[in-house]
Order: sequence, then structure tokens, then C-alpha cells
Amino acid sequence: MSRRFLSIGECMVELSQAGDGLLRKGFAGDTFNTAWYARACLAADWSVDYFTALGDDAMSDEMLAFIDKAGIGTSLIRRIRGRTPGLYMINLKNGERSFSYWRDSAAARSLAADPDRLREAVESADVVYFSGITLAILPHEDAETLLAEVRRAKAAGKLVVFDPNIRPRLWSSYDVMHTTISEGARSSVLVMPSFDDEAAHFGDDSIEATIHRYRALGAIHIVVKNGSDGVTLNFAGEQTFVPAEKVEKVIDTTSAGDSFNGAFLARYLEAGDAPAAARFATKVAARVVSEHGALVPREKLGLDGG
Ligand code: ADP
Repeated sequence: MSRRFLSIGECMVELSQAGDGLLRKGFAGDTFNTAWYARACLAADWSVDYFTALGDDAMSDEMLAFIDKAGIGTSLIRRIRGRTPGLYMINLKNGERSFSYWRDSAAARSLAADPDRLREAVESADVVYFSGITLAILPHEDAETLLAEVRRAKAAGKLVVFDPNIRPRLWSSYDVMHTTISEGARSSVLVMPSFDDEAAHFGDDSIEATIHRYRALGAIHIVVKNGSDGVTLNFAGEQTFVPAEKVEKVIDTTSAGDSFNGAFLARYLEAGDAPAAARFATKVAARVVSEHGALVPREKLGLDGG
């Protein structure tokens, strides 16, 4: 029987510089990126579905077609009349990248506003993935709805996975951010934070401190990513360190963490061996940072020994 990996969040229109003042259009967003890499790495007996909300404009249609073409299920995606997707632009100045966002009125902000639909989607899944960005873009009440749903899924024995992906600019205050992200972790089985973010915004002085904090909240497994310094896994108390791959030339670290998560989960779901899954995901993420863009095509991930 086929099993379903469900990722919940926001995919945006991406505009990047294409030279001569031209802009290139793409689609990306943390939870979508993870779905992309999970799809690339999972066998065909898994379906990967994306749960979000889109509008009814041409850009929403185009994004839907793009998601579908990636082999990611779109049947659960809500369409809202009169709304549009969020948009961001990557600016390049003297080799430094910065981002401008237009996402305040994005349809995705209403992804949890239809609780029955959300429940149906979560109930249909074996694995549920969401992030701190997913929680940050929702009105407070809807974030509570989503958290209640994932808690139900956890109680039902499903693998609920959370990447805190801390983005202070998306939150109304530090207090709300701390409380809601902690609640996200408490409602999850596996938490996959990036140490940089946790140190900067929760004041953790070591990877141990991050692991301890999330375990104390009630998460069962923790995977702490630390860029080129590797990852530390704590699975039900058992700790393992996996070093990062040596990368000759880092081209673009966009979605390094998202790709790691997708590849890790794919391998973990198929074989149940967390350290082996981390070694595999480390290789995939190393390929991703060696290429431009958030979504590296499957052929370039070296999955078939290439
Ligand atoms: P995030 O993108 O969430 O900040 P990290 O920077 O920790 O996440 O990167 C996630 C994973 O990507 C790391 O665990 C590592 O495997 C890989 N990675 C990131 N940067 C590098 C790098 N410079 N060299 C090799 N691997 C890297």
C-alpha cells in the first residue's frame, strides 16, 4: 500500500537576477523544498503531497502545475478566490545576496483556515512535516489549529517532523516566537533545528543545550544541523555525530537545511537507520550547496551512484 509524506507550508514565487536587468521566475519555500528532496529520494511507493493555499490567478495555476510536474501531489491544496501567492526577490550586490519579500497577503496565510480540510489532509498522511515558517505566517488562531492537528497525529503514532527554521522578522514578538516554536517542537516526534539559529535566538551555548531543550519539551528525536561542521543526532537518547562532506567550492547554500531534511527523512523512512540516513543526507546537501538555486534536479544529486 502506498504511504504518504505530507509537507505543510508556503511555496512562493521567486525572482532572481538573470543579467541585463532581467528577472528569472522560479518557485520555492522551505517546506516545499523539503518536499522536493523527499520526492527525489523516496521510492515510488511513497506519495509526497504538499498542503498549502493558493489563489485563483494565473500565477497560482502556474505554481500548481510546477508542483505537479515535480511529482508532488496537489490534490489537497486549497484555492481561494481573489488571492495570490507570496513573492520574493533575490537581490545581488557586490556578490552579497539579500531578499525582499511580498508575502503579507499571500493565500498561504489561510492554509489552516479550513480546519476540516486540514484534518482530512493530516489524517490521510503517514508522515507530517512543517516548520517554524509555517507557524509564523499563520494568524494566531490558525497556528493553534495546526498545532492541535499535529498533536493528534503524534498521539496517533505518526511521525511528525518539525524544523524550527527561526525567522524573527516573520514574528510579531520574540515572546510569541519562542512560545510558538517551543509548542511546535512539543507537538512533534522529530525536531530538525539548525544550530546557528538556535544559538542566536534561544541562546543555546552548545549543541547539547539545543538537544536538551527540545527533549525536555517532549520531542523524542533531534537532529541538529551545523553547516560545514556536520550534524549531531539524538535518537531516543542515543547520540551520533556525522561530519559534513568536504565541498570544493560552495556556490549557493540556499535550501541546504531543507534538502538535508528531505533526503534524511526519505532514507530514514525506508530503512529506519538514522545515522545512515544522515550520512546519505550529508552527501545530498553537499551537492545542493555546490549548485545554484533552492531546487537542484534529481539527476544532479548523485543518487544513482553518479
Ligand atoms: P540551514 O540551511 O538550515 O542553515 P545548515 O547550514 O546547517 O542548514 O546546512 C544543512 C546541511 O547542509 C549540513 O548539515 C551539511 O550537511 C550541509 N552543508 C551546509 N553547508 C555546507 C558546507 N559549506 N559544506 C558542506 N556541507 C554543507
